[in-house]
Amino acid sequence: MTTEANSQDDLLTIIDDTIELETTSKQQPCWRILVVDDDKDVHVATNLTLNDLIIEERPLDVLHAYSAKEAEEILQQEEGISVILLDVVMETDNAGLELVDIIRNKLNLTSIRIVLRTGQPGYAPEMDTIQQFDINDYRTKSELTRIRLFTILTSTIRAYKQIRQQLVMRQGLENVVKASTKLANIHGMRLFAEGAVKQISALIHIEPDGLICAQAGMLDDNSGAQVIAASGRYRGLVQSPLESIESDKIKHKLRTCLQQKKSSLDDGLTLYFSTEHGRGLAAYVDINRELDHTDRHLLEVFCANLSVGFDNVLLYNKLEEQAFLDPLLKVPNLNSLLEYLCSPKEHEDPANLALIDLDDFSSINDSFGHQFGDGVLKEVIDRLITTFPQCFIARVSSDVFAIIGPQQDVTSGRIIDLFEKDFIVDEQPFKICASIGLVELVERASELTGLFKDAQVALKQAKTHRRGGAVTFSQDMGQCARDRMHLLTQLRLALTKNALFMMYQPKYNLETGEVTGMEALLRWKNDDGQFVPPDRFIPLAEQCGMMVTIGAFVIQRSCEELHSLNQSGHNICMAINISPAQLEDSGFVSLLRYAIESTGISPHQLELEITETMAANNLEHICKVLKEVRDLGCKVAIDDFGTGFSSLSVLHKLPATRLKIDRAFVDAMEDDDSIAKMIVNLGQTLGLEVTAEGIETDAQLEKLRGFGCEEGQGWLFAKAMPFDELSELLASK
Ligand code: C2E
Ligand code: MG
Ligand code: MG
Repeated sequence: MTTEANSQDDLLTIIDDTIELETTSKQQPCWRILVVDDDKDVHVATNLTLNDLIIEERPLDVLHAYSAKEAEEILQQEEGISVILLDVVMETDNAGLELVDIIRNKLNLTSIRIVLRTGQPGYAPEMDTIQQFDINDYRTKSELTRIRLFTILTSTIRAYKQIRQQLVMRQGLENVVKASTKLANIHGMRLFAEGAVKQISALIHIEPDGLICAQAGMLDDNSGAQVIAASGRYRGLVQSPLESIESDKIKHKLRTCLQQKKSSLDDGLTLYFSTEHGRGLAAYVDINRELDHTDRHLLEVFCANLSVGFDNVLLYNKLEEQAFLDPLLKVPNLNSLLEYLCSPKEHEDPANLALIDLDDFSSINDSFGHQFGDGVLKEVIDRLITTFPQCFIARVSSDVFAIIGPQQDVTSGRIIDLFEKDFIVDEQPFKICASIGLVELVERASELTGLFKDAQVALKQAKTHRRGGAVTFSQDMGQCARDRMHLLTQLRLALTKNALFMMYQPKYNLETGEVTGMEALLRWKNDDGQFVPPDRFIPLAEQCGMMVTIGAFVIQRSCEELHSLNQSGHNICMAINISPAQLEDSGFVSLLRYAIESTGISPHQLELEITETMAANNLEHICKVLKEVRDLGCKVAIDDFGTGFSSLSVLHKLPATRLKIDRAFVDAMEDDDSIAKMIVNLGQTLGLEVTAEGIETDAQLEKLRGFGCEEGQGWLFAKAMPFDELSELLASK
């Protein structure tokens, strides 16, 4: 016998097992044949013919029906019938064929093989009927000698066997797919493995007594080979090391399976699952019967599927880890913190959330290198964990940590104390300071993550007003932050809705009273028709990175309107205020050049106003950019001069052409005019032109004139006005 025939026989054993279970109490497997004929003699004759026949190694069990009706009843009650010998003409001329229709279409018995018999050759069914009803053979009764019947039955029983085999295999594969789908949504390694044991058992129809063992290092780097899931009688073994399994046989089988990376299907089932991770898993399942061909094939397919499943679980876990764990410090990250905040807590003790921001961390990185910076972070997290062992600790951004814990533990005092002692980094003592923002975790059910924002607001306050100290969040603070947020959203819209525009304040020659130029001032009229003062929205835009875009608008629009004035014959100068963010933007000079060239104004007509503080903060870079600005042909003024306390050396280095005396000193002139006078002198000494801002009274004007200040602006002359008004003003002069 060929191997294939052999394996088919194997298969048949299970097929028959199931048939047997479902149908008869007979011990010996046999082929059930149903003879349907209204002629009793045919039954007797068939019985005689089939008596003692062995087909495909089994005897026959013959059932009898004397009408189509009776046959239908038998077919409904009995199972495992493989062949029907069916008379065509019975109650009616067509009763046999009608029964065939019932068998195939009503009873849905597709595996049963049908051999039609008829007394007269004239009653042969049409060819297409034979095909349509899947009829195996058609014979006249006289043809059916013992030897003929034997041959026909042998071939039909073989056909039946094959159909059943395919059916079992298909059901098995369907089960594999179902099992895999069931497992596909499980992302926990243990749960997945537990499901796998159950599905393996179900697939080969046994009770789920089994366990799955993961190779050393699979779950984390320190674990040895370990039982990760078990069911049935092995349930108690979950999470114990492989070596602690009592049964030497199972222990040995699992160990060998993991070492050899191979499944073994004999003497208990040991299956190997390889993963891309490089480490595998071994499953052991009790089985007390020989596995047949179909079982083996199904297990093979299922193992391949499971390996992919295990890979997915590992991948999913890795992604989870990446999403929720800080890669450097292996502590929870911001996602994790937000999830923790939103998850329901068992203990209801009042808690605090503290955000701890290391002061000057970026300069530590810049000065000592990133490796040293990483070392600092590690030392800090270690100290946090030892000081607050029961608390939830996370790293929420590069140099900001979060602690959540009971209010009596997580106090600003304890956190500040923690930074008292030097940290040891690279074996060197190192002083680290931190600013702290605290918030009480009172549950405002609707927005728990809002608490994190509150803590950020408090931290921001600490960073700006109390570096190295702590600020606890208050509702006022929150309101203020929310207002700013609202303003910022509106400002973004304003930019797209053209709600931003320029106004111009003329500047005058104090001696002659002529208009010498103007300062372009940005205006924002909000949806309620109210003007939002630039002092309010410009610093905000600056903080939120919007100033580069807004500044670009200011430059372009001012140049366009200056061009319009040029066209009307007014070749005057215009001052434009520039923010620090604009000067730091690498595209600034080309943007300025584009505005000049595209509008066709002369660069000499432009004066850029920067503040003293801006220059003092980043002198080298600012000087470089301003030199390029000067090379373009534009002038540079230092705005609000006298308020920034910059040193004279800074002033000397800046390629400036003008000083603007801050309004505060002009205001103060009535009581004390010394500063205004000094600035005018300073300008003259350094060869800079001087403008006085905010002249409101004749007295101020007189004095400034007396000091030799050439230019001024202020409400005494004119307030900032819309472009049209400015055009009229210039036209009237
Ligand atoms: P600034 O550059 O010092 O502008 C002068 C400010 O003083 C203007 O306020 C102007 O309207 C106001 N002012 C002028 N004369 C008088 C006066 O006689 N009395 C009083 N009390 N005030 C006077 P404004 O327009 O509210 O601008 C405030 C600040 O906003 C400006 O100060 C400037 O720093 C900034 N700013 C305005 N427009 C822009 C802009 O387009 N870009 C940038 N970066 N900043 C701008
Ligand atoms: Mg200005
Ligand atoms: Mg000013």
